[in-house]
Amino acid sequence: MSWYAPRHLDEALALLAEHPGLIPIAGGTDVMVDGNAGAAGREYLSLAGVAGLRGVRETPAGLVIGALTTMTEIGRHPLVCRDLPALAASARATGAVAIQNRATLGGNIMNASPAADNPPVLLAYGALVVLMSAAGPRRVPYARFHSGYKETGRRPGEILGEILVPFPPLRAHHYFRKVGTRRAQSISKVGLAALLAGRPGAWECVRFGFASIAATPILACALAATITDTDHGLPRDEELAEALGRDIAARDDIRSTADYRRRVAMNLVREALAPWRLQGGFDASN
Ligand SMILES: Cc1cc2nc3c(=O)[nH]c(=O)nc-3n(C[C@H](O)[C@H](O)[C@H](O)COP(=O)(O)OP(=O)(O)OC[C@H]3O[C@@H](n4cnc5c(N)ncnc54)[C@H](O)[C@@H]3O)c2cc1C
Repeated sequence: MSWYAPRHLDEALALLAEHPGLIPIAGGTDVMVDGNAGAAGREYLSLAGVAGLRGVRETPAGLVIGALTTMTEIGRHPLVCRDLPALAASARATGAVAIQNRATLGGNIMNASPAADNPPVLLAYGALVVLMSAAGPRRVPYARFHSGYKETGRRPGEILGEILVPFPPLRAHHYFRKVGTRRAQSISKVGLAALLAGRPGAWECVRFGFASIAATPILACALAATITDTDHGLPRDEELAEALGRDIAARDDIRSTADYRRRVAMNLVREALAPWRLQGGFDASN
């Protein structure tokens, strides 16, 4: 086995340009499991020591999160807790403490599991991913990044360097809920993240990101359109369920059934929209 451990980004990108087959490894919590399952690669590029790929910083447009930032760092970071509380919540719901100490946001995205906890939140927040290579950086809207089951738009020679998350509207409802068999160390049966701002007839933002109901993490676009196209109040539950049915491609698998997933997904949508049913709107000051 060959193991490259560069210290600088330029060095890492040059190595990858020279050896495009190198497997990037960040926290290793997925890569090592793949190895134990017999899918070990032969040549690895450890990103763990590369300076500048870790941490959270504020820009005028939003927060920039280094791909090597761990779940523990994200779950506790004051800027993330202030501006992106749903991401802080999803980081704290990823695995358990030992996993959170190693698992990175970049690894969670690049592993491309449809059941991963943080991708639905990044979809709801309208994030962009920054792919870096010897040719320079490339920005891709995260909603267009997953191309199929466990597939991404990463090109040879690229690593995921940063995730850009625009500031959400000031008075927004940030929702995250993971449904699994237990509170920790559980893979989701259904996960929903939502960012909702405005009111019927004057929505500022309506985005629902789901885990575990299709081959990739998905944005529920038909559901969002049904809500924004309804001028007076919220659509009826049957209309919401019909729209959601067009977005999701739930399947039976070892963790759950398609029928359970459809029902729970709809329950989560109802829960996310509850502030508009109960009070006629969401008051962020409450
Ligand atoms: C016991 C256990 C429990 C878990 N529970 C959960 C859970 O509840 N929720 C959940 O979502 N996940 C869970 N996971 C999965 C895993 O911990 C996460 O997906 C984690 O975020 C992966 O990050 P990592 O840094 O360890 O990635 P790694 O294992 O290092 O890499 C994962 C993949 O991404 C690629 N990669 C990593 N970083 C980059 C980069 N910067 N650029 C390009 N490619 C890159 C690697 O080549 C590999 O294909 C669990 C895993 C274990 C072992």
